[in-house]
Amino acid sequence: MSNSYIYSRLYAWFESNKRVLPWRETDDPYCIWLSEIILQQTRVAQGMEYYLRFVARWPRVDDLAAADEAEVLREWQGLGYYSRARNLHKAAQMIIEGRKNKGESWFPCTFAELKALPGVGEYTAGAIASFAYNEPYPAMDGNVYRVVARLFDIDEPFDTTAGKKLFHKQIELLLDRANPRLFNASIMEFGALQCTPVLGDNCGVCPLQGVCLSYEHGTADLLPVRKPRAKVKDRWLTYHVYLCEGDTLIRRREAKDIWYHLYEFPCDEHTGEWPKTKGEKAIELTHVLSHQRLHARFIVHRVKELPAIPETIRVAWPELDDHALSRLTLRALETIIP
Ligand code: SF4
Repeated sequence: MSNSYIYSRLYAWFESNKRVLPWRETDDPYCIWLSEIILQQTRVAQGMEYYLRFVARWPRVDDLAAADEAEVLREWQGLGYYSRARNLHKAAQMIIEGRKNKGESWFPCTFAELKALPGVGEYTAGAIASFAYNEPYPAMDGNVYRVVARLFDIDEPFDTTAGKKLFHKQIELLLDRANPRLFNASIMEFGALQCTPVLGDNCGVCPLQGVCLSYEHGTADLLPVRKPRAKVKDRWLTYHVYLCEGDTLIRRREAKDIWYHLYEFPCDEHTGEWPKTKGEKAIELTHVLSHQRLHARFIVHRVKELPAIPETIRVAWPELDDHALSRLTLRALETIIP
């Protein structure tokens, strides 16, 4: 199949179907970097709100670097995968540090410099290098893996080392080196809107149907292939919500486990199921993370005096919102009435 045939059809499709997204309207590497970190593991509709808030609050990398980590985590609240926010903040500080030697407006601009930033992997470095600097690097997100798997009818799992190598080789052959920015934006959008996980009738109106090997072989619905999923670990947690004169106790997680540096109610972890505990009211929630299923029980204790629990802080109930809380805690707060 000819690459130029694919480019002309893909770009015409992109021109008519692309969504208007603020990070596509700029070539400011800071804004593009911010959007790429926010959009990792996040849907565009949800990420948009966070992107606009971050850019409004910290319009330049200097502003983000000068912020307190707790403020950044607070602004990130609800997006999950908080290591992204910590890395974003750390990377902003590294860039400002780098400016001491490289000049006051320096921003990482080569693939290697971008990839050296915390939280920036192969995909993100390729995306920033191509979108901000039009450098010829592919940006293989999940949508692009799917398009490549189907166009070339590749049934190798794309998330193994061997699979990644194979897909990268294929995208390197397909990449439009004269227009990497346009190519990456088009193929990503094509995967998001046209060559979707569930195809429905999309193949019937697809501009690449004539060169799509999986369409020809009738295998499109079976692709891409993933390696078998790792076993999910179950954990049982009891949270204690103490209430005393409108105040409660929270504690910051310090263990490099889940939700590092986020706040939650004091918690006991149990092996196996929850033990019996005294309390006024229990709310039970199941919370699923990528490799863990958390079975959480929140017990409300109305007390005359708050107990002395190490590392907790006392806060007024309305001020809980001033702290970066884990998603599970936020879910519980939808139900707990102080
Ligand atoms: S024909 Fe179907 S599977 Fe092939 S690229 Fe188009 S939408 Fe994807």
